[in-house]
Amino acid sequence: MIKFLDLQKINLTYQDQIEARMLTVFRRGWYLLGEEVVNFENSLKSYIQAPHVIGVANGLDALRLIFRAYIEMGVMKAGDEVIVPANTYIASVLAISDNDLIPVFCEPNESTFNIDINQIEKHITARTKAILLVHLYGRVVFSEGLAQLAAQKGLKIIEDNAQAIGAVWNEIKTGALGDAAGFSFYPGKNLGALGDGGAVSCKDESLAKTIRAIANYGSNQKYINMYKGLNSRLDEIQAAVLDEKLKFIDQDNARRAEIALYYSAHITNKQIILPEHPLQQEEHVWHLYVIRTKSRDRLQQYLTDNGIQTLIHYPIPPHKQAAYKEYNNLTFPITEQIHEEVLSLPISPILLDSEVATIVDSLNNFRLD
Ligand SMILES: *Cc1c(COP(=O)(O)O)cnc(C)c1O
Repeated sequence: MIKFLDLQKINLTYQDQIEARMLTVFRRGWYLLGEEVVNFENSLKSYIQAPHVIGVANGLDALRLIFRAYIEMGVMKAGDEVIVPANTYIASVLAISDNDLIPVFCEPNESTFNIDINQIEKHITARTKAILLVHLYGRVVFSEGLAQLAAQKGLKIIEDNAQAIGAVWNEIKTGALGDAAGFSFYPGKNLGALGDGGAVSCKDESLAKTIRAIANYGSNQKYINMYKGLNSRLDEIQAAVLDEKLKFIDQDNARRAEIALYYSAHITNKQIILPEHPLQQEEHVWHLYVIRTKSRDRLQQYLTDNGIQTLIHYPIPPHKQAAYKEYNNLTFPITEQIHEEVLSLPISPILLDSEVATIVDSLNNFRLD
């Protein structure tokens, strides 16, 4: 069987390096807020060229902490609105609603799956304070015009960079495009820990200090508490593993791009819509290779029968979830259609050329009868 994602094989690629780094932490006896986290924060900072990076417990916390810090700083307040793509993983939306901010859903562009930049302006009201951009599936969404619109309306641009570490727009890496960004190091992400992990990057120093304090019980100085904070830490073992794996992210992303190009050049089945490739290759790090078809469930079953594991990202959009009953009456036709048609093919750095060829053959032999 070809697995959708073989995490064991991915991490065994770096077995010697990872085991050595973990052993060092184990033997040092210092497990939280130590030198490994500082090292990794510095490595990530220089990798994405952002002024500040703060390691946190996971990707959802990274995003929650950004909004929470803006609230503590008086930049936002409960009831303010944040524009967010209707087509995203629910964590993007949870980060907003968890802070009593209001998510305002915007339809995606059907070819990129990302928020339709041209539709953002019509959602801006007097209460809008930010745009949460999600570089979905690993593809950058950004433009000069969007940056200008945000500047002109006084809106923060926050990036959900959980899926796009290493992607580049106009020589700037994702995570350094907006005012602040959240990263996830969930094991299945392009840069995956051996457990949970996350980070925030940002431009403003006072925002960075506020986030660091809130993530540490609201304290920048031991036993002096400025905020009603949380405990959201990246631990030393995860930081060491991530610091090691970060060295290979460009190489890993390049292999993903190679597989994506192969799929796109060789899948010829007319019943399958292939994902669009950006003109600038570096704008996509192919966290997911997502195809569309009218007969998605049948195609998935057919692939399963042929020993190929696939997943659906995502079957139900946030506004149709029971968790968001207040939005269940809204309709976003493009988003809803995408959720019915998408299917994610296996794509990861360890996939063999022969496996990729097998997947292509199976797809080309699929017939609706
Ligand atoms: C994975 C993911 C998150 C959440 O990250 P966790 O580390 O799992 O909390 C947020 N947004 C998007 C788009 C993601 O893919």
